[in-house]
Amino acid sequence: MRIPLIAGNWKMNKSINEARSFMQIVSDQLPEPDQVETAIAAPAILLETMIEANGADRLRIGAENCYYEDAGAFTGETSPQALAEMGIPYVIVGHSERRSYFNETDDIINRKVHAVYRNHMTPILCCDETMGRLEAGEKIHWVVSQVTGALKGVSEDLARQLVIAYEPSWAIGSGKSASADQAEEGCYLIRQTIADIYGDDVANQMRVLYGGSVNPENISQIMAKQNIDGVLAGGASLDPETFLQLAHYQ
Ligand code: PEP
Repeated sequence: MRIPLIAGNWKMNKSINEARSFMQIVSDQLPEPDQVETAIAAPAILLETMIEANGADRLRIGAENCYYEDAGAFTGETSPQALAEMGIPYVIVGHSERRSYFNETDDIINRKVHAVYRNHMTPILCCDETMGRLEAGEKIHWVVSQVTGALKGVSEDLARQLVIAYEPSWAIGSGKSASADQAEEGCYLIRQTIADIYGDDVANQMRVLYGGSVNPENISQIMAKQNIDGVLAGGASLDPETFLQLAHYQ
């Protein structure tokens, strides 16, 4: 059985005090992790505060990014080894904002995936899709090439733990979510791609999330779909009460 994962991505938002106050509100109101797992990926500078404030320990505190080397002369980068030492379970890799604003290629994303696994954490691999590509009917090729590019050299055992988020970039931060059917189609394609690479067993075990303007109104329809195991929410994860509504979507 795939446990649903309701994850937030704060991007470059919140001060240390705001992060602490979010944690005070949500930490003992979240579902039991064996029923619905919840996670927030936060800026690296907030992680320690959030871990300290995670009273009931129900929220998984994730990172939004890391570098692909563990240490060295890489000024300003975040070490995956240090994230692992902090007890971080998840790292977002390949978010569309990293791909477009920071020129992250499939090769860089592949190296980051390996770095996350090497440090015994789990990547939340984001695959995007633009409206232009959707209209040009290139979706299949695009999603397939991002998944295969990111997973080069990743073993079957590691792929089993993987979380992939299908995130059409036209739906991110736009207030215009994909329909539940469109979201299901993208997540199904991703699962099929994993089945082609690793077989049905791995494809049925790994979790696929949908991300793009998810909110308390549309989450139940999205979560009702067969191939959608959770969501990655940006804007709707910032307000504690709204995040709690997502977490208790059932
Ligand atoms: C995201 O940043 O991954 C995202 C899905 O953002 P939003 O929910 O705000 O569209």
